[in-house]
Amino acid sequence: MKDVERILFPVDFSDVSPTIVPWVMTMAEKFNSKVHLLFVARGLEYYSSVYVSYVSIEDFERQVVEGSETTMDEFIKKHFSGYADCLGRVVVGDPAEEILNYVEKEKIDMIIIPTHGRKGIEKILFGSVARRVIRMSPVPVLSINPHRKRKI
Ligand code: ADP
Repeated sequence: MKDVERILFPVDFSDVSPTIVPWVMTMAEKFNSKVHLLFVARGLEYYSSVYVSYVSIEDFERQVVEGSETTMDEFIKKHFSGYADCLGRVVVGDPAEEILNYVEKEKIDMIIIPTHGRKGIEKILFGSVARRVIRMSPVPVLSINPHRKRKI
């Protein structure tokens, strides 16, 4: 038997994120797991064509992290009020890379991730973050397509 002590739920705060919450709750309650919610804020290097001084880079990242932490707190309050054993984290970097780093660092046992997020292009099978996480994850991934529903 395997323990699923820690479940990672990456959120991009798109409309898709709340639709996955019932699955996260179901799995967490089944396995009695702690739920880690993670948002990866893009660093300023993502906007590489824009010139900014070093000081404002630090300032930019601090403000993005602070704002994202507030959004994370609100998300947890709204969607996880019925489940106390959860925590929210915000880090800066490349989303797929940071999700995979987090899995190692926090000894995550399972990831639950929607196949799509903000861009939500239905025609492609997976968004780029979901695809990289599913391909590279060292732990099982429950991937959920938010745009497909069973017909009956
Ligand atoms: P799309 O191309 O449709 O936006 P993505 O692969 O980017 O698809 O997103 C799929 C899922 O990956 C999101 O619903 C979310 O769970 C996760 N994800 C995407 N971006 C981030 C991010 N910045 N931080 C945390 N999770 C993310």
